[in-house]
Amino acid sequence: MSDISVLGIFVADISFSGNKIPGVGETILGNRYNVGPGGKGCNQAVAIARLGGKVNFISKIGKDTYGELALNTLKKNNIKTDNVIQNENLQTGVAGILVDQKSGKNAINVIVGAPSTLKISEINKQINLIKKSKIFLTQLEIPKDVTLHCLKTAKDNGCITILNPAPASEITKEFYNNVDFFTPNETEAEFYTGIKITNEKEAKQAANKLINLGVKKVIVTLGEKGLFYSDGKEEIYINASQVKAVDTTGAGDAFNGGLAFGLSKSKPIRECLELANKVAGLSTTKLGAGDAMPFLKDI
Ligand code: ADP
Repeated sequence: MSDISVLGIFVADISFSGNKIPGVGETILGNRYNVGPGGKGCNQAVAIARLGGKVNFISKIGKDTYGELALNTLKKNNIKTDNVIQNENLQTGVAGILVDQKSGKNAINVIVGAPSTLKISEINKQINLIKKSKIFLTQLEIPKDVTLHCLKTAKDNGCITILNPAPASEITKEFYNNVDFFTPNETEAEFYTGIKITNEKEAKQAANKLINLGVKKVIVTLGEKGLFYSDGKEEIYINASQVKAVDTTGAGDAFNGGLAFGLSKSKPIRECLELANKVAGLSTTKLGAGDAMPFLKDI
């Protein structure tokens, strides 16, 4: 039995660093490029494993070069590969990432590939794993019917469910009703609530609106400003760690991984948030996403 199950995708992140993110129609000469493991689900699973958490990663990949990168990444991080379906007729996903070296900010285009074909019947082979987990963590990168089916099953079986609602995309009331922790960043929070977040008061308004929509607890991650948490009664605001960010790709994933790990150890909420904040802050000090996740000894 694992403490945490993560349903999500792996993609190969192909990132280009330069002095700016080029605009539409513009060409710039960048400084370096990197090919490394990414995909929100895989990044989150790696973050958990590196903290010492027991994690199942449930996903689908192709049988190609980047599929090999996926399997090697999981093995290197002591994550079992048994729950990753491999299909030789499909492509493993890729993400094109443009990084502004000065701010660490990025722009990303994700091609999901193989997991976009996931079906409920396929995922049902792994459903017992989810049922037996303490924590179920997922995002919005695989088909919604599969995501909702797994969220519901997890909730019905007493798991704590975390939905990192990224990338922002329309979801039904049923999603909200099956989520314990809803973890949007500022842009995503604005998408789901229509409230533009520029300060703590607006973060609070957005969190309240999400709680009214049906989620139990909300954490709005605020980038270099930290995070805001609310369960409708208790509110916690935490500043981001003072770090020199070089690449913020995967910061939200590091955060969700840290949160899931903390919750799996039954730590009090403030401690979980502080841990997640620290893990996320450290992840911004390294280039890449999956490869930038910190280890327990770094915390
Ligand atoms: P996403 O990566 O999903 O866009 P955010 O940008 O909100 O999410 O970042 C998630 C978390 O990562 C933040 O809540 C914070 O803990 C940490 N973080 C992000 N950027 C920085 C930064 N520049 N310095 C320190 N911590 C950061």
